[in-house]
Amino acid sequence: MTEHDLSYWRDLSAKLVLPHDAFIDGAATAASDGATLVTSNPATGQPLTAVAACSVDDVDRAVAAARTSFESGVWSRLAPAQRKATLQRLAALIRQHREELALLETLDTGKPIRDAYELDIPGAAGCFEWYAEATDKLYGEVAPTDGDNLATITREPIGVVAAVIPWNFPLDITAWKLAPALAAGNSVILKPAEQSPLSALRLAQLAKEAGFPDGVINVLPGHGHVTGQALGLHPDVDCLTFTGSTATGKRFLDYSSRSNMKQVWLECGGKSPNLIFADSDIDAAARAAVQGIYFNQGEVCSANSRILVQRDIRPAFVDAFVAAASRLVVGDPLDPATDVGALIDSEHAAKVRGYIARGIEEGASLAMGTAPSGDEQGAFVAPTLFVDVAPKMTIAHEEIFGPVAALIDFTDEDEAVAIANDSIYGLAASVWTTDLSRAHRVSRRLRAGTVSVNTVDAIDFTTPFGGYKQSGFGRDLSLHALDKFTQLKTTWIRL
Ligand code: NAD
Repeated sequence: MTEHDLSYWRDLSAKLVLPHDAFIDGAATAASDGATLVTSNPATGQPLTAVAACSVDDVDRAVAAARTSFESGVWSRLAPAQRKATLQRLAALIRQHREELALLETLDTGKPIRDAYELDIPGAAGCFEWYAEATDKLYGEVAPTDGDNLATITREPIGVVAAVIPWNFPLDITAWKLAPALAAGNSVILKPAEQSPLSALRLAQLAKEAGFPDGVINVLPGHGHVTGQALGLHPDVDCLTFTGSTATGKRFLDYSSRSNMKQVWLECGGKSPNLIFADSDIDAAARAAVQGIYFNQGEVCSANSRILVQRDIRPAFVDAFVAAASRLVVGDPLDPATDVGALIDSEHAAKVRGYIARGIEEGASLAMGTAPSGDEQGAFVAPTLFVDVAPKMTIAHEEIFGPVAALIDFTDEDEAVAIANDSIYGLAASVWTTDLSRAHRVSRRLRAGTVSVNTVDAIDFTTPFGGYKQSGFGRDLSLHALDKFTQLKTTWIRL
């Protein structure tokens, strides 16, 4: 039996130990008031375990521990090469526990085990490794002052960094936030989403094993309006990095203005367009478009949920899209053959079905998927494609965050760009064309943080990821992520 067999994962999950304590100042701990929240398996609806639901007091304790560790210099002033070695040990431990972490992720979120095992866990390990490597390769600057003065410009860690994250890629987004923040020398507090705390709690244990000093990494599961809000309002948190919905992102701006004007960096929602011109390779574009919307059940902030197709090729494109999407296996997330698993919970699935019903009501046609009857239960939603979608329809402008694509026709380049940019969001976009000039022209005109040409949703540790408009500001990944977690210090010496 190998990782390609369902029974392999079933056997492993029967033996799995689920973490449940918060992690504060180097120790596993229950919430101060004993409160817990239950996390469930979306595929079955069955509870998995009750984890600590951290209180305002727990947040105070974690912030104090992070502050103490930061000021002591035990991490913040450690030689970069030693920080690098610790981050590398954590990356190695993540790899060593790849199966366990993949299982925690799949049981907690409903995502296919193959994706968790092949992408999420190696992705998190790779991210810690990438920033570990950067740690001792960042230099300061010497300003071109006159000969009687010397001015150096150095990067310093900002202090206590809090990260509040969503449930769609729990361990990966944890790594995107923590790896650069730690590489820069900060102490961190992570609040995972209510629905998916398990992999972050296990990561905290592995961080202890890797040798992070107490207080440098704290993980506080809890409710958004309690634990998340307390971090947002805390007077001793220096920087808050957030990934989640635009509505919650706006709350963090408010928390900051009401408290200590902490820096806030937001990675929020999206409604990313995928523009397919008549001169593109239709089969390749259709296969990629299927991946672009149905990967991770469509629960991807940069999902290409609006598919803009030039009118002449629409019938051929829809045929190729439906043929490719029909091959997707929807089912048990623990089965390595599964391509599309369960959505995060039955409430979210009901919301997604509500959008499908709304699309039908507003006059769009289903080319794939079924009209909800109202009797559906559970967290599975089949891949759905709407055609005859007008840009003003709800399904064309609201983020659905599920496996639902809206196909909109266009006539020419100007119309395509106008429809693509007609959104409050600007996280990502894709363009399919064989005309090099058009590829450049359209990429320049699209208001999105990442434009993928003849591919979808391109992403790498080496390239910044983040949004325009209400998709947020600040960038995850790449060396640019370090800007969020460092201050620039000028030291001026009169010689
Ligand atoms: P969410 O905004 O509801 O929750 C995100 C986090 O914020 C959770 O940890 C939650 O507990 C916390 N939170 C919720 N309410 C809060 C409050 N009142 N005060 C403080 N914290 C609070 O988002 P979600 O439903 O978990 O995730 C889906 C959203 O995340 C989508 O909009 C998606 O586009 C977005 N997302 C964006 C990116 C990106 O990089 N841009 C990546 C993944 C997900």
